[in-house]
Amino acid sequence: MYGSFQNYLTNELTAIEAAGLYKNERVIVTPQQAVIRIADGREALNFCANNYLGLSNHPRVIKAAQAAMDERGYGISSVRFICGTQDLHKELEAAIARYFRTDDTILYAACFDANGGVFEPLFDERDAIISDALNHASIIDGVRLCKAQRYRYANADMDELEDCLKTAQAQRFRIVVTDGVFSMDGNVAPIDRICSLADRYDALVMVDESHSAGVVGRTGRGVSEHFDVYGKIDIYTGTLGKAFGGAIGGFTTGRREIIAMLRQRSRPYLFSNSIPPAVVKAGLEVFKMLDESDALHAQQQENVRYFIDRMQAAGFDIKPTQSAICAVMLYDARLSQAFAARMLDEGIYVVGFYYPVVPKGQARIRVQLSAAHEKAHLDKAIEAFVKVGRELGVV
Ligand SMILES: *Cc1c(COP(=O)(O)O)cnc(C)c1O
Repeated sequence: MYGSFQNYLTNELTAIEAAGLYKNERVIVTPQQAVIRIADGREALNFCANNYLGLSNHPRVIKAAQAAMDERGYGISSVRFICGTQDLHKELEAAIARYFRTDDTILYAACFDANGGVFEPLFDERDAIISDALNHASIIDGVRLCKAQRYRYANADMDELEDCLKTAQAQRFRIVVTDGVFSMDGNVAPIDRICSLADRYDALVMVDESHSAGVVGRTGRGVSEHFDVYGKIDIYTGTLGKAFGGAIGGFTTGRREIIAMLRQRSRPYLFSNSIPPAVVKAGLEVFKMLDESDALHAQQQENVRYFIDRMQAAGFDIKPTQSAICAVMLYDARLSQAFAARMLDEGIYVVGFYYPVVPKGQARIRVQLSAAHEKAHLDKAIEAFVKVGRELGVV
């Protein structure tokens, strides 16, 4: 049988390549950090990691992971409810709940799993899920796994959300679901207005904090701090794979009974392995560090301001952002690819995004700033942007 299937796949792959959509993976031979080396020997400054707080290769985080290996071993070989819960898992769940000021937390192998396992146990065909059109793929998949009625509103469009909420009065329970920060523009969802509408139309609110936690808010504690809406958000999901250390792991945190029900019924939790002690203990160290000091977050914010101010002064068109994501607008798909390739020649690793990842005619280079970037790194990146920008007639 494989012969015909192989032909089919080969044709599909060729079509993907012909459409210019083939994803080639660049191989890195150093830890994830500001300065990386790629397999062809080139060194580059990395501006496309989600390493917002610079913790991916932080000595304290690594030390914590090493200590956990010594004290609690390598793997757990079990799901949580059989024999996969160590004291460390409970401590990390509590630390995340303290950070977000929620009742309780449930850990997952990834935020993809948290989102995949959050809807189906809580809602059924009598209920409504109202989702921002730009929500992450894992939310979309999670919604697909649930029988609830689906509603979708254009990105951050509160009039459309209100219309959805009106129609959804026909359902038993309603939940509005949004990313905290949208990954392509870096804009923060209007959570204050979402919470008011949810109040008015009797809906629950869920925010995926993957790109917002550790970044937005006065001390980086996410959208609740940013909008001062503590107590109004029922469910948060998030990842340990971005600002919080960058290894792996996800979580859902929120109201007590919701988390309790997920522990009973959430399939990616019940039927998938417990996260390893090293990752859990490193996560604990991350939240301890963030409790001790705002320095990393402050540095990241300072870097964002420094970069954007100078890029705008140089004439670049930067999407308004309230996060560590900075979209340098080029509009043209080919230009975005040529620009990114030239940037790598200049020692700057950035990625150009174009349709279908962003709307047609909205191609851009996405720059992700980190606390790990030093002034000299930022200056080098800005210099390269200006040089390549002039060369390609952008500025
Ligand atoms: C990255 C991301 C995820 C997936 O997180 P993982 O822990 O890597 O699975 C989910 N939601 C959003 C909004 C993200 O940006």
